[in-house]
Amino acid sequence: MLDYLQLADCYAIESLSVFKNHINREEAILTRIIVVGGGAGGLELATKLGRTLGRKRRAEVTLVDRRASHLWKPLLHEVATGSLDAGVDAISYRAHAKNHSFDFQMGSLQDIDRDNKTITLAALYDKHNELLVPARSLEYDILVLAIGSTSNDFNTQGVRDNCIFLDSPEQAHRFRSEMNNQFMKLHANKDQKTVDIAIVGAGATGVELSAELHNAVQELHNYGFGDLDSSRLNINLVEAGERILPALPPRISQAAHNELTKLGVNVRTATMVTKADETGLTTKDGEHIPAQIMVWAAGIKAPDFMKDIAGLETNRINQLVVKPTLQTTRDDNIYVIGDLASCVQEDGSFVPPRAQAAHQMASRCFSNIVAKLSDREQKPYIYSDHGSLVSLSRFSTVGSLMGNLSKGSMMVEGRIARMVYISLYRMHQMALHGMFKTGLIMLVGRINRVLRPSLKLH
Ligand SMILES: Cc1cc2nc3c(=O)[nH]c(=O)nc-3n(C[C@H](O)[C@H](O)[C@H](O)COP(=O)(O)OP(=O)(O)OC[C@H]3O[C@@H](n4cnc5c(N)ncnc54)[C@H](O)[C@@H]3O)c2cc1C
Repeated sequence: MLDYLQLADCYAIESLSVFKNHINREEAILTRIIVVGGGAGGLELATKLGRTLGRKRRAEVTLVDRRASHLWKPLLHEVATGSLDAGVDAISYRAHAKNHSFDFQMGSLQDIDRDNKTITLAALYDKHNELLVPARSLEYDILVLAIGSTSNDFNTQGVRDNCIFLDSPEQAHRFRSEMNNQFMKLHANKDQKTVDIAIVGAGATGVELSAELHNAVQELHNYGFGDLDSSRLNINLVEAGERILPALPPRISQAAHNELTKLGVNVRTATMVTKADETGLTTKDGEHIPAQIMVWAAGIKAPDFMKDIAGLETNRINQLVVKPTLQTTRDDNIYVIGDLASCVQEDGSFVPPRAQAAHQMASRCFSNIVAKLSDREQKPYIYSDHGSLVSLSRFSTVGSLMGNLSKGSMMVEGRIARMVYISLYRMHQMALHGMFKTGLIMLVGRINRVLRPSLKLH
């Protein structure tokens, strides 16, 4: 659906092309760098490129995204429960582009023509399916792909139709709206005992969402739902593996498991879901887990249309295979960063799909693009694991720090862990806004805590 900001973008697209033609006639042709995907990695990269090469007119930097605004993806489970108001934290691409000397074009990447060095963006329609902007092509000299990943349902029967994926702000809003409706029904219907929510996948998303839901219920209790408490929230967190948070050390899994159990979450490990329908989930053992709301957070893949796009090498989950320099194996003019990249490390492991990896890759890709423009050597990206933290809402934060140094064995909990967890988002904000503006944003956040309700209620 297109909102008014998106419409403004469509008009701007037209005027931008006129402006570009004008520039091309007036000035020498600049290197055209296109970054597709303004997420955790892409927006940081476009900002850095704009601030340096764009501002000095050494390159023409364009960011393409299918949305009008950016919201850092790890915040989505908080948006889903209403703990965070996306309207406050989202960044308008157009405004950000203006402040950082790059262009923004709204549109969905559809195809890449490597011979002619162009990308095609799909046509844009309004909510009544009326054409706003036809499909169009953009020319590049250097292309960076950063369109992230989507949930992988492994073709499990009924999942696509019955489960919510927390991949985008729209899906997070859908979850919040369904959750609020269920709580209203519960409040009004004395015969209904619980709201049943099933979450498939006990990675960071599933675990964090389970805890956020308990926080939301406790907050709603204070906002007119006096009969609502944790005992009326029935969450089943279902994991096929032997333990929750399989990517983290066992000690941390156990600590998170204990916290969730204390909150009243039914943690079901070694349970494989084989089907979802409108009444709930079915497991491999034939058990039925009833649920009014189901969330699927059990793995990721790159978007399906990436498979073999433009003859580039892809893996079995459609990620683009890159060299250590983050250039694709078959085209040095195309870089890939973030969740979309399949990047192998020296020890044979793959860079995990995490915000910290996207952040680091944006920096390496930036240096390599600058080096490329001056015919200097491309350097390899080496993933530096600073540890992983999982936020159990306001109840606790657990995780490990400095994974590379201590092999993930330095376990942290409580306030320190919470501070480090938040610092990952602050690093993203610093990369986008610089230190002063990030400081102001933090101050506004504090003020909002006094002025606004602690839960988004409308
Ligand atoms: C609920 C949740 C919680 C998470 N928590 C954590 C955490 O605590 N720590 C952590 O390290 N990681 C976490 N992650 C993972 C982290 O969010 C991702 O690893 C990270 O966002 C990847 O960054 P990216 O730049 O590759 O893609 P994204 O941040 O997903 O950005 C992709 C961008 O591409 C745009 N796009 C997509 N398709 C197209 C297209 N066809 N054309 C144009 N634009 C397109 C999207 O609109 C988006 O702006 C979490 C993920 C989720 C879903």
